[in-house]
Amino acid sequence: MNIIPPNGYNAALYLRLSRDEDAKQESNSITNQRQILTDYATQQGFRIAGEYVDDGVSGTSFDRPGFQQMLGDITEKKINMVIVKDLSRLGREYIGTGQYIEQIFPRMGVRFIAIGDRYDSLLDDEPSADMMPMYNFFNEFHAKQTSRKTRATKKSLAKAGKFQGSKPPFGYVRDPQDKYHLLVDPEAAEVVRCIFHLACDGLGYKAIARNLRDRGYPNPNAYVNAKDPEHHARSDYWKQPHDWHATSIKTLLHNPTYLGKIVSGRRRTRSFKDNQIIHMPEEDWIVVENTHEAIIDQRTWDLAHEKLKVRKRCDNHGAKMFAGLVKCADCGYALAYTKNGGNPYYQCSQYNVKGKAYCTSHYIRYDEIYDAVLHDIRRRAKAAAGMDKQLLRSLKREATGLLGKKLKQAEKDFKAIDARITELDTVIGKLYEDSALNRISPDRFDTLLQKYENEQTELKKKHVEVQKELAEQQKRQSESDQFMEMISAYTDITQLNASLLNELIHSIEVGSIRMEDGVRRRSIRIKYRQFCYVEVYTQEFDWLMAFEKDLAAEKSVAKQVAV
Ligand SMILES: [Zn+2]
Repeated sequence: MNIIPPNGYNAALYLRLSRDEDAKQESNSITNQRQILTDYATQQGFRIAGEYVDDGVSGTSFDRPGFQQMLGDITEKKINMVIVKDLSRLGREYIGTGQYIEQIFPRMGVRFIAIGDRYDSLLDDEPSADMMPMYNFFNEFHAKQTSRKTRATKKSLAKAGKFQGSKPPFGYVRDPQDKYHLLVDPEAAEVVRCIFHLACDGLGYKAIARNLRDRGYPNPNAYVNAKDPEHHARSDYWKQPHDWHATSIKTLLHNPTYLGKIVSGRRRTRSFKDNQIIHMPEEDWIVVENTHEAIIDQRTWDLAHEKLKVRKRCDNHGAKMFAGLVKCADCGYALAYTKNGGNPYYQCSQYNVKGKAYCTSHYIRYDEIYDAVLHDIRRRAKAAAGMDKQLLRSLKREATGLLGKKLKQAEKDFKAIDARITELDTVIGKLYEDSALNRISPDRFDTLLQKYENEQTELKKKHVEVQKELAEQQKRQSESDQFMEMISAYTDITQLNASLLNELIHSIEVGSIRMEDGVRRRSIRIKYRQFCYVEVYTQEFDWLMAFEKDLAAEKSVAKQVAV
């Protein structure tokens, strides 16, 4: 009966729910069936001529009020199509159901569709490709339903303060007793605290990443991998264990989980079909406090975020380009930037907060630091470019002198270890001989053998370490050459900016002012990022009057030129 009626279809939507079917089973509820059928009929352009419902009636018999009424309307030609959600809605009884589908409906000129089973009597003998539209429709409907349901479940879990992430944030582990609860992982938590403290010191994301890399902290993936080698079996990322990235630092610093609360609903996808992420406004977030132990206290969090905001505001230029670089030479705290109307200046932040008992002010004007740094970079650049041969020689001598010393020491250690390992081989050999000749009791043999073997194992470990140290020193030697090349490009700079400073400088330690022969002196130690200069400048470097004179001379020359 593959004939489409000239006046189109008048569809009957047939809905049934039996008493014994779990009413909680949402997918079979009358509401759900009605929605599926209506959506489908509308989408296909079928006229809905009537809805027939048997609620709480078993599918094993056809003696149901709704069904009988529908048969009556079919007989009266009011209906020429029956749509059900799936075959079991029509009937649970196989023979009877089959009779309706294969004989009764066709004879009465009724097209029958069971959406869920992808059955359509019109396409009864067609290949399944023609079923695709229905197949798609049904799948989509289910996806939508599932997505709605998942969202609802997620929301209720969120309101209960349950952790629902796929993996706990770095610093936490999932509670083995409760998958929605987090426990602190003390080792990783220490790294998280360190990251927040660096942010409090004024370091930006990149500088923090570099700091962690320099300190050799394993990144979160490497950390997980060390505990569970299977976890990243298919990824290579953990193979650069100390490679921290600014983006992951950023994510970490903005994760409120560290405050001991669960914040959900910060993001959602547009729809079940469109995975585009939408960031939700803060007032729509679901926040549950005290759901687990905090790693960071609110004060630290606030301070870190305040500093990050400041960095963002004056990203490259301006007085705060030294943020995270200037430190108190005596207590190691950051120098705090202040601008009181007039001249901007820095002061030891520990002195600022805790007072005289802890440190002295270390007051220094912003332009003093600026000039010192600018001058020193230019001076070094000129040396590196070969314009100041004398300084270059002395810098190189200092650098290679230090490197050379370290290299020599490492080489010496290496040889000594080697010699002792060989010696132990002989000693152990003799011990076996003594034992064989009964010159030594078995107990004594065991004790001595254990002792020598332990010593040898320790030495072999050390051997590896020293070898690494040697390689490291050699690498630094070549880095030193690279740095010379890099800095030599800055012979003529007249201005500083944050990216230049971050590229070249590791930190600037400001000492307090002291009087020497009636002259105020202060030491500013500029530690360059490059190894050899760091070492050179850890030796006291005085920002002396001599430099100030130099600078004054340069400035007056510049003024003359400008005029
Ligand atoms: Zn201080």
